[in-house]
Amino acid sequence: MKLYDTLSRELKEVRINDRSLTMYVCGLTPYSEPHLGHAMKAIVFDVLRRYLEYSGFEVIHVENITDIDDKMINAADQNNTTVTEIAKENTKIYFDQMYALNVLKPHIIPKATEEIETIINIIKTLQEKDYAYAAEGDVYFRVRKSDQYGELSGRSLDGLKSGARVDLNPLKEDPLDFVLWKSKKQEEPSWQSPWGEGRPGWHIECTAMVNRYLGSQIDIHGGGQDLIFPHHENENVQSEAFSSSRPMSNHWVHNGLLRFGDDKMSKSIGNLVSVSDVLSQFSADAVRLFFLTSHYRSPLTFTEEAIASQEAAISRLKNALTPSNKTSSNKVLEINQDVDLFESAMNNDLNTPQALAILFGIVTKINQAKSFGEDIVPAQEVLRKLSKVLGFTLQNDKVLPDNLLSEVLDFTNQIKAKILDSGNTDILHKLSDVVLDDINVGKLDNNKRNAYLVNLLDAITEIRNYLRTNKLYELSDFVRDGLAEMDVVLEDSKDKSFWKYSG
Ligand SMILES: [Zn+2]
Repeated sequence: MKLYDTLSRELKEVRINDRSLTMYVCGLTPYSEPHLGHAMKAIVFDVLRRYLEYSGFEVIHVENITDIDDKMINAADQNNTTVTEIAKENTKIYFDQMYALNVLKPHIIPKATEEIETIINIIKTLQEKDYAYAAEGDVYFRVRKSDQYGELSGRSLDGLKSGARVDLNPLKEDPLDFVLWKSKKQEEPSWQSPWGEGRPGWHIECTAMVNRYLGSQIDIHGGGQDLIFPHHENENVQSEAFSSSRPMSNHWVHNGLLRFGDDKMSKSIGNLVSVSDVLSQFSADAVRLFFLTSHYRSPLTFTEEAIASQEAAISRLKNALTPSNKTSSNKVLEINQDVDLFESAMNNDLNTPQALAILFGIVTKINQAKSFGEDIVPAQEVLRKLSKVLGFTLQNDKVLPDNLLSEVLDFTNQIKAKILDSGNTDILHKLSDVVLDDINVGKLDNNKRNAYLVNLLDAITEIRNYLRTNKLYELSDFVRDGLAEMDVVLEDSKDKSFWKYSG
């Protein structure tokens, strides 16, 4: 797979190492409810991760939470609450919404406030190496000490200096120097450090988390294009100064930004549209399809009409996956070539618009073959698999009943117990990957409940497939019969099964 790298400004092959592929994405500053721009970034990197996993990589995905900075402190003041409370609340909302959008959860979600020790140690090293200097409780990065400053964003130090607003901070040696540690002001949250009480700057937090969780060199560093300068520029130079390893990341991957048209809806809520507003009107699949119709590096303009128009395409996709009620011909629909084309589109810098054109080409082929009575089951399996690579949920339009989730959760525990008894414990991870701990089912909103249920039923179906292929018939029948009692019917084809709610 070739992926664009902002630093070298070229498409580069994603290297296959003997280790896992490491991906760090700059995450949320949880000072307010997430907007659609957050969803766009999350979906871009979700599809990248899903495709890399489909291609055989084991991806380790880390995404941070900036739970302390100026915006957080201001928001807490304005709402008469604490930084901790506001961070907790908005982080929960964000991950609930990402779950509803079928975005895979990062493997590690470090919070800035829990990484203070690592941050302090890195600043100490930068100071020892003469890249940083302390001034009255603050610590700054000495930009002119680095030969690479400006390399990522394509700016020169002199160009930056003449364009920079006059920085009146007398503590800085150079107006372009940026802060690594800020001394405590008034009642701000603060931590003890060798430079006195204070808190970390924004950029140093990502350097600390990348180094702690993934090492000094990673494969993919992601974020929106708005982060290239100054955040990633600063992060890049300070990381390389700290570790003396170059490049810090093999690929710097930046998604284009979401523009909001001047329609009424966006104006009325301050030019930003919240994820919950959009999810209350449109299906998660239509929202995702809207983002994927544009190449991830291009800007995209939001309008309600643009998302609404995706609903019909999603219905066509789901419709092509419904079983055929007549297979009268011996001809089997063959789509291997389409899979190759899908993969070359995705291998070419994640070209999702092209991949979608091929996916919907398969939909047309299936519909035609269906009308001729051809065998479309293998083609449908492939279509389902490729749709999942793009992260579509393919949920039934029919809303699943409220009580089904608790029944399925009970049944999941029974399956676990049976499998444990039988000693085939290696397949249990399929369940533990999707079962959410400490969840209050009654408190989930509709979107989240449906998404959780669909994920659980997918996992149970996969386990049933495994049991059946490995001739563990007693267990496999137990799963099928248990699901049937809840009106969830498994449709078996040659070597796979799919679930359908028939209630
Ligand atoms: Zn960052």
